[in-house]
Amino acid sequence: MTDDLRGLRPQHPSLYQLAADGHSLEFLYAQCPSCGRLAFPANVPGCGHCGDPLQQARIVARPGSATLLEFVTLHVPLLPGLETPRIAGDIRIADGVVEEGVIAVSDESQLHAGMELCAVAVPLPSGEEFTCRFVPALQGGAA
Ligand SMILES: [Zn+2]
Repeated sequence: MTDDLRGLRPQHPSLYQLAADGHSLEFLYAQCPSCGRLAFPANVPGCGHCGDPLQQARIVARPGSATLLEFVTLHVPLLPGLETPRIAGDIRIADGVVEEGVIAVSDESQLHAGMELCAVAVPLPSGEEFTCRFVPALQGGAA
């Protein structure tokens, strides 16, 4: 198995893309032309910080580093095909931008609120797409 997923497509191409290393992810934001802050996802109808309609916004990619705010272990699949148990968390991916994400660790003892995470690509069973998972930042560079 390889960590290089460049042959696969992102499951949600409007949200993230593969970074140059072929393994970690970058998130795609709209950079607000009025206040300069980042809006996510990039296709939101307006800047959450100042209300600019973002019609002139530039799409920018930023490394998928993040901060874990809180987390919970889910034992029931909320959607068909979701693996369980899975650990979901509220994750701050940019200033003022908090998203829910799945953290790819085996149990909660490896996590604590406030720790740094990074987003990595994980292949889906189809073999054609990858999805986004978060891992503790110290593991991010390991193969
Ligand atoms: Zn703005």
